[in-house]
Amino acid sequence: MSDTAFSQLLDKFVELDHSYGGNSSSSAVTILFGDTASHGARVIGFCQISGPARYVVISREFWYGSDALTAESLLFHELGHCLLNRAHLYDRRPNRDLWPVSLMNGYIVRSDMYGTDYNYYQQELFTVKFPRLDMQANGENTISDELELHEEPNGGCVAYGRSHD
Ligand SMILES: [Zn+2]
Repeated sequence: MSDTAFSQLLDKFVELDHSYGGNSSSSAVTILFGDTASHGARVIGFCQISGPARYVVISREFWYGSDALTAESLLFHELGHCLLNRAHLYDRRPNRDLWPVSLMNGYIVRSDMYGTDYNYYQQELFTVKFPRLDMQANGENTISDELELHEEPNGGCVAYGRSHD
């Protein structure tokens, strides 16, 4: 993926949100490459909210090594924080091999899962409203929320929650 995909995916996110009745605005967030590893060795992206300013910061290395579905899974997760005020949700799907219920899992949802249940994951993202990010009323707090890559010993990447560590 190239960085020119940022704006296309942002527009796609906002369009989808509106189709589900939301009112997010692409002008409310800035997306850029940055030092995600300073938040943890496995962190590949985070959303930072400071007053009215909202930034999505993405690992350049991870982005350029990602296919289209993985990149969308990553960016939509961060925009779920920054534009929808959603927090992490670690529930799993008992009837779906314990796949994450949401792109808002703290570990990236793999492209094979996202691609197979594409409409499910998008509908969940834009219609489920909880849990919320805990933001102070004065808006002065900085919230940095990270998405991690969970690497298995075999080099694969799984999306299971923290209890899997
Ligand atoms: Zn996150």
